[in-house]
Amino acid sequence: MPGEKKRFVIIGGGPGGTSCATHAARLGADVTLIEKDLIGGAAHLLDCIPSKAMIATGGAMSMMKGAEAMGLAKVDVQLDFDALRDRIVSIEDQLEESVTSLLASQSVRLIEGTGRLTGSHTVVAEPNDGSDPIELEADVIVLSTGSRPRIPDWAPIDGERVLTTRHAYPPPELPEHLVVIGSGVTGVEFVHMFNSFGSEVTLIVSRQQVLPGKDPEVAAALEQSFLDRGVRLFMGARAESIDVEGSQVTVRCDDGRSAVGSHALLAIGSIPNSEALGLDEAGVEHEWGYVKVDHNNLSSQPHIYAAGDLSGKLPLSSVATTQGRKIAQHAMGLHAGPHRHLDYDKAASAIFTDPEIADVGLAEADAFSEGRKIRVTKVPFSVSAKALINNDSRGFVKIVSDPATGVVLGGSIVGRHAAELISVLALAVTAGLTVTDLVESLFVHPALAEVLGEAAE
Ligand SMILES: Cc1cc2nc3c(=O)[nH]c(=O)nc-3n(C[C@H](O)[C@H](O)[C@H](O)COP(=O)(O)OP(=O)(O)OC[C@H]3O[C@@H](n4cnc5c(N)ncnc54)[C@H](O)[C@@H]3O)c2cc1C
Repeated sequence: MPGEKKRFVIIGGGPGGTSCATHAARLGADVTLIEKDLIGGAAHLLDCIPSKAMIATGGAMSMMKGAEAMGLAKVDVQLDFDALRDRIVSIEDQLEESVTSLLASQSVRLIEGTGRLTGSHTVVAEPNDGSDPIELEADVIVLSTGSRPRIPDWAPIDGERVLTTRHAYPPPELPEHLVVIGSGVTGVEFVHMFNSFGSEVTLIVSRQQVLPGKDPEVAAALEQSFLDRGVRLFMGARAESIDVEGSQVTVRCDDGRSAVGSHALLAIGSIPNSEALGLDEAGVEHEWGYVKVDHNNLSSQPHIYAAGDLSGKLPLSSVATTQGRKIAQHAMGLHAGPHRHLDYDKAASAIFTDPEIADVGLAEADAFSEGRKIRVTKVPFSVSAKALINNDSRGFVKIVSDPATGVVLGGSIVGRHAAELISVLALAVTAGLTVTDLVESLFVHPALAEVLGEAAE
């Protein structure tokens, strides 16, 4: 009706849901957000942020251990597990508080409870405090309930000795020897994290390279760094059982090998939080529990959207946030004119290991398998004065461009601050900049970014 505000009901308060809520409210919608657990979602409180906080602590330890190389007296550095736990809780509290006050500042109504679709325009919220269910009518519904770790039948997860990623911030005790199952992004970050804390680590890698699907040269650089740091790699081995006996955990693999440690950590992917969401009641099509969406993140129902991991696109916090914003704009009619759809092929991503790894856009291997003509240029960080100053000249920058036009199509970076540096290439890929644009940019000297200009030449 004219003059009436559009009613948004959003289920799930992670980056997808909260970003949609604040943007829709700013655009004049009446917004209700239902969150059953933690404002900020798994991203802020269970996955992304606590893992990066622990990795940063491990990084600080490694730097201190290398103090002599920077002209400092040797220092004895010990991990303080209680202080680490306090640090993580404090970061989580600050983030939850800042998201909660942002939502309040935009007059978003927050219901602490579990949301479920009851029809194509109706949602019920069961409040956490046990009070009566709240029936809500909506013009626009956004589903952003995220995902959780996948646990196969053979894994006796107990949160003590056999862990998922969600038991590891930090775990009940520092593992003497951690067996990590799964060598995707999450698995390798945990290998790096616990190795830097001083745990012995064995990694079970089901294929012949860590980081399946990533540039083989990038994966090889990480494998070498793991081997140099004493990580044991079981290549081409699939875990199929875990036995716990007292303080010993044995992971048996399909090739007959066994890895024995004090703890095991499972990092073999995630599943969507959708089984109790009422998708069928509302006529929302789904596949493997993920909501099927179009390029506007719209489901099979013309006013029900899905954001974040539930949409089955790239499971990244950054992607969830952008989807949330785009959904708010689309539902509020801002996409009537020309606009840019989200292009997942241009999303930058990073792996917070040591060395750090980041990439964006077209990968060299993918271009070859598609038979596409590309120009690949690569420069090692060892040419950089800043890398020498940092006492860390490992890694390289690789740029993939179009040989005819010079347009930057993609790139990979292995090395210190790769996650920050990749933003320059991400901007180039999104904006259609050329290698000449990079070469002619006046970068700071001395800075690691100068290597981007050199790799573009
Ligand atoms: C170990 C790990 C590290 C990661 N690191 C990074 C990283 O460095 N960078 C990055 O970009 N991404 C990272 N990710 C991925 C990132 O965490 C996810 O992509 C992101 O959390 C997805 O956001 P979301 O909004 O879809 O869902 P979530 O953050 O999962 O939030 C969903 C919310 O919905 C709530 N909810 C679920 N069901 C209901 C219901 N029925 N009613 C009400 N509320 C409900 C949940 O309680 C939760 O708070 C990492 C993931 C893992 C596992």
